[in-house]
Amino acid sequence: MSGWIAVAGLGPGAEALVTPEVTQALDQATDIIGYIPYVARVAQRPGLTLHPSDNRVELDRATHALTLAAQGRRVVIVSSGDPGVFAMASALFEALEAGPTDWLALDIQILPGITAMLAAAARAGAPLGHDFCVINLSDNLKPWALIERRLRLAAQADFAMAFYNPRSKARPEGFARTLTILREECGDDRLILFARAVSTPEESLAIVRLGQVTPDMADMRTMVIVGSSLTRVIERPAGPILYTPRWSQ
Ligand code: SAH
Repeated sequence: MSGWIAVAGLGPGAEALVTPEVTQALDQATDIIGYIPYVARVAQRPGLTLHPSDNRVELDRATHALTLAAQGRRVVIVSSGDPGVFAMASALFEALEAGPTDWLALDIQILPGITAMLAAAARAGAPLGHDFCVINLSDNLKPWALIERRLRLAAQADFAMAFYNPRSKARPEGFARTLTILREECGDDRLILFARAVSTPEESLAIVRLGQVTPDMADMRTMVIVGSSLTRVIERPAGPILYTPRWSQ
């Protein structure tokens, strides 16, 4: 009986961006738990049980993983990107805190991955080269008023900003409201990166000024990075580079 749980980040999509540590955990696992498209990235093999589940059942998934590990199974919970960034690692600890005390003896490890923000930033250049902040634009788990307050204060403090979950079919109006706030706080010249499906065959990148942005430029596979007032573009034949210098005034 030597069960364990690893919460592993699979990176943004490309196999080359999965860490060797995560590959090793997947190789040693008896059970893989996670959202359907992420579990689909793990190859089937004898002795491995895949447990794909639907979106928005994070706590059920976490409880399932803890129960299996307590039975002696070697469980990997898979997330895209990094598991600590708007993903399963916190859900696991929420379930751990709410569960029986014998779960506290379980071997639990969080294995980092390359989060979408870093993959997107690297494709475009270095937009996060100076101070930045990260906001999840989904209001599933927090009130919209809090998102709006954080957006405004971050813009006023002249942070570059990275947005996860910018726009879904269920709440298309949130991103339009985000753009309105940004226009009020930053003006039309502010540079914005839309990086969709980074490191997958469907990858696309667009660097635009806030004045040209329309809400339909983002969807749930898009990472949005808003530059600070100092973020700039270098034009070159191979395509633009978006970067933020290391200094500030
Ligand atoms: N744990 C994940 C984030 C989960 S939230 C991570 O660390 O990357 C899901 C959001 O991440 C998506 O709505 C999108 O904004 C972003 N995202 C995930 N993969 C992406 C990719 N390959 N390209 C662009 N954005 C991505």
